[in-house]
Amino acid sequence: TMSSSENPSTSLFREYLRIRTVHPDPDYGNQFLVRVAKDIGLESRKVKLSSGRDILVMTWQGTDPKLKSVILNSHIDVVPVYEDLWTHPPFAAHKDEAGNIYARGTQDMKCVTIQYLEALRQLKSDGSHFPRTIHLTLVPDEETGGHTGMELFVDYPEFKDLNPGITLDEGLASPTEEFSVFYGEKCPWWITVHCRGD
Ligand SMILES: [Zn+2]
Repeated sequence: TMSSSENPSTSLFREYLRIRTVHPDPDYGNQFLVRVAKDIGLESRKVKLSSGRDILVMTWQGTDPKLKSVILNSHIDVVPVYEDLWTHPPFAAHKDEAGNIYARGTQDMKCVTIQYLEALRQLKSDGSHFPRTIHLTLVPDEETGGHTGMELFVDYPEFKDLNPGITLDEGLASPTEEFSVFYGEKCPWWITVHCRGD
């Protein structure tokens, strides 16, 4: 069968796609992610936010932990579906004969999370070491604006303790052979607006 020859990374991706982290009531149990972290040999911990949501942080300690870290960020939640408009059930992660995988979250952005994890698994199993610590941050509620997730987390001491130097997060799919990279998308740009009363 197709599944017996499937790349384990693909199987893990499909397993993650079947977890219904869909708004408005996402399954944020995170057992799957904690299990994968443990399997790879990453330390994982949860930071509880004042919103009641958890941020999951996975860490691969660098050989020079004083250096600023690399943060690989991704959101766990996905937007809702109109299930009757789908050719395959959106939380079944069906793979067709051509190898296309159908699910809410395939592009946005469970693919990226599994890519981070499987890249780290490969590097660790190759015996690689890096000076900088690498953190995976897995955040809730991006699709509803992040006000109960990342927006809170960045003001927590647990975030500053990550000692971030650079962060990767999602991009967008490209219909061509070119990849798009969002450069400095979230840089602050302060402007002053003067409103005169006359
Ligand atoms: Zn997204």
